[in-house]
Amino acid sequence: MADRVVVAGGGASGLAAAIFAAERGASVTILEHKDRVGKKILMTGNGRCNLTNMSDVRGKYYSSDTDSLNRIYDTLVRFDAAKTRDFFRRLGLYTKEKRDGGVYPVSEQASIVLDVLRSACDRLGVRIRTDCEVTAVRPERNGGTVCVTQYVRTDQDPHERKSSQTVVKYDRLILAMGGKAAPVSGSDGSGYALAKKLGHSVIEPLPALVQLRCSGAFFKALSGVRAQGEIRLLIDGAEAACEEGELQLTDYGVSGIPVFQLSRLASRAIHDKRQCEAGINFIPYDSISDLEKMDDGICGAFSHKTAEEFLAGMVHKKIAAVVCKQIGITPGATVGQTGAGKIQKCLKMLSDFRVRITAPNPFEHAQVCCGGVPLGEVDENFMSRRCRDIYLVGELLDCDGICGGYNLQWAWATGAIAGTAAALREDKR
Ligand SMILES: Cc1cc2nc3c(=O)[nH]c(=O)nc-3n(C[C@H](O)[C@H](O)[C@H](O)COP(=O)(O)OP(=O)(O)OC[C@H]3O[C@@H](n4cnc5c(N)ncnc54)[C@H](O)[C@@H]3O)c2cc1C
Repeated sequence: MADRVVVAGGGASGLAAAIFAAERGASVTILEHKDRVGKKILMTGNGRCNLTNMSDVRGKYYSSDTDSLNRIYDTLVRFDAAKTRDFFRRLGLYTKEKRDGGVYPVSEQASIVLDVLRSACDRLGVRIRTDCEVTAVRPERNGGTVCVTQYVRTDQDPHERKSSQTVVKYDRLILAMGGKAAPVSGSDGSGYALAKKLGHSVIEPLPALVQLRCSGAFFKALSGVRAQGEIRLLIDGAEAACEEGELQLTDYGVSGIPVFQLSRLASRAIHDKRQCEAGINFIPYDSISDLEKMDDGICGAFSHKTAEEFLAGMVHKKIAAVVCKQIGITPGATVGQTGAGKIQKCLKMLSDFRVRITAPNPFEHAQVCCGGVPLGEVDENFMSRRCRDIYLVGELLDCDGICGGYNLQWAWATGAIAGTAAALREDKR
């Protein structure tokens, strides 16, 4: 009889694990507590699914220590972006690479990614049980059982669900329950609780790839502004990261890809009660060298303009207005009346606009989590070192990547490796 591989969680890593295990002859069942699998895949890349990235992976991932980072890089050499593209090509999905190395389906539709995964599951006979919540795991000498709450929707009210308890036997179990980010898609953190019960430790998961909340009443006035700029993250006064690109200002703080890229460092630092500040350069252009020379002569040429009008020649009007107010320039005062000294101060502020970061936005807004089960607690095939026959994959583990397809790459790679090992019993002890 074929080995029974049970996959808890039908997200990116779970679907990949199921397909790789089934292709190698295992009898596979996915247990998914939502009413359908792969809900988060549909949300990725703004509905376009940036499914991997062809660039060098070094420096694109975070984990708690150097050994773990090396484990991540080793994994992504074993199953790299090219293998991900081959995998999808094999399932009938053509992909294209963009200038930054990001890979998308040719049609730029996330739904097609899920469609090909589901169709592969159908073809390979993978059983998908939805509305099925994994609540406990009981390991035995060989394999074990999974306790499941099965929900059934009633005909009268589609929102009302009746539940019953069942158990499912496994020879190998793959925990692919994701983290806590975007819980609407099903990842509610129950994977961490289960891993703890199995003897694993969990590095506290925090929101990552997320907007940052900042102090400053002026954010209300800046809401909706998009500006090209540079953002530096300062932790206890020292620069920890710097990103460039389109910044989005909101009524509570900052957003946009550059903010997302450094958000996990801010999230962890705030959690560790460290001081977090952002220094935003709204004028990171060559013209700054002219601006630095701003003197009475140059100011004189624009003396008829109001200070706000003058600054609005370089930055968004709303930013110009906020900076003038911060420097204490009387509304409507001209450049001539304001004087070169204060205009210089405005420019200095525009090139290093300091704000205190108070918190990341909550998990509901985050794309991924940082933290999770330490990589040292699983072997090279992602089998638990605490509990035999159980594998942990995807976001449940302590690995998070920056934006650009790196997080899905981690999900496909860990799913593929664990699914293969689970089916072939490569790590039989
Ligand atoms: C808005 C958004 C956009 C993103 N865009 C990108 C992108 O373009 N590129 C990229 O690389 N990454 C992107 N990501 C991140 C990426 O989606 C995740 O890193 C990846 O989906 C993680 O895969 P996973 O399988 O580990 O977990 P998940 O995809 O979260 O899957 C976990 C599954 O387990 C199920 N589950 C949880 N608990 C239980 C339980 N107790 N019983 C049964 N089932 C359970 C959940 O319902 C879910 O289906 C994005 C994330 C978000 C939220």
